[in-house]
Amino acid sequence: MEKRRILLIGTGGTIASEMGNNGLEPELTSRQLLRYVPDISGICEIDCIQLFSLDSTNIRPEHWLRIAKAIQERYTQYDGFVVSHGTDTMAYTAAGLSYLIQNSLKPIVLTGAQKPIGYETTDSKQNLRDAFMVAASDMYGVLLVFNGKIIAGTRSRKTHSKSFEAFSSINYPIIGMAQDGRIIQYIRPERNISTQFYEVLDPKVALLKLAPGIDCGVAEYLLERNSALIIESFGVGGLPVYETGNFYETIKRGLEAGKTVVLTTQVENEGSDLSVYHVGNSIKQNLPILEAYDMITEAVIAKLMWILGRTTERAEVAKLFYTPISCDILSVF
Ligand code: ASP
Repeated sequence: MEKRRILLIGTGGTIASEMGNNGLEPELTSRQLLRYVPDISGICEIDCIQLFSLDSTNIRPEHWLRIAKAIQERYTQYDGFVVSHGTDTMAYTAAGLSYLIQNSLKPIVLTGAQKPIGYETTDSKQNLRDAFMVAASDMYGVLLVFNGKIIAGTRSRKTHSKSFEAFSSINYPIIGMAQDGRIIQYIRPERNISTQFYEVLDPKVALLKLAPGIDCGVAEYLLERNSALIIESFGVGGLPVYETGNFYETIKRGLEAGKTVVLTTQVENEGSDLSVYHVGNSIKQNLPILEAYDMITEAVIAKLMWILGRTTERAEVAKLFYTPISCDILSVF
């Protein structure tokens, strides 16, 4: 059987880093990365491009657009794509690509590493091998492959800052495992047959994590400067009403000014349910806010950027927000 053709897209990150004067910096190109894992050419035929060399701390929505564009321009020439990327914001890029490239029939695999590829002890080589194996398989859609786990792009989160076991799948099972040169696929998400690429995002989406006693002027400020505000509130969700400030009133003004507001939770697992407590239900019943339910914050951010790049009409925004895309939301009550 003919070997599958895979494109490796380099973007920087620890995997490609070397020690500079002030700490690790991305230096190696995608072609140089491949020299460390010559055995991968036994799995597939590979071409490489280098889009940029950034610590992913510096990667922004405009870079997601560049990665998506690079894939779109070469989509018909390859059977799969591997994007090597820094781990710090990889989950955000994975979510971004999940909305910019919907219903991909080919695998688009993000990977990276906690230790540079040139180190004696490194996870880089195994992660690259696994990523290529998935990219050359019959799997599809945007996936993050790390330490053997294959995670949906809309469900991945960096949950360990140092260990090789850096990523988790939140509120959704892992899609499968890459183990000993084989793929074990646990679930096969539903797919639609027409792949769509999108080229516009509205990056003006802000995120506010509540802390007890927080000044609601922060929400006011963020609403003034952005198209949307996501509030990570406590537990299943609610907004505080303090004598010193009323979030309800602040958000009401923001909504009247045409902004989008999403309430979610800062609790990692199981999502929001605003209907349970007065502090949440009184807002849900009276204001046209959106609720994240089981959608993770990384996905909410990227989804809002994608939606607001298409429409600002409130009913349409809500409809798109609650429409499941690439396994991002399961439970809309
Ligand atoms: N700071 C690095 C980055 O995100 C960390 C890593 O790649 O693991 O680019």
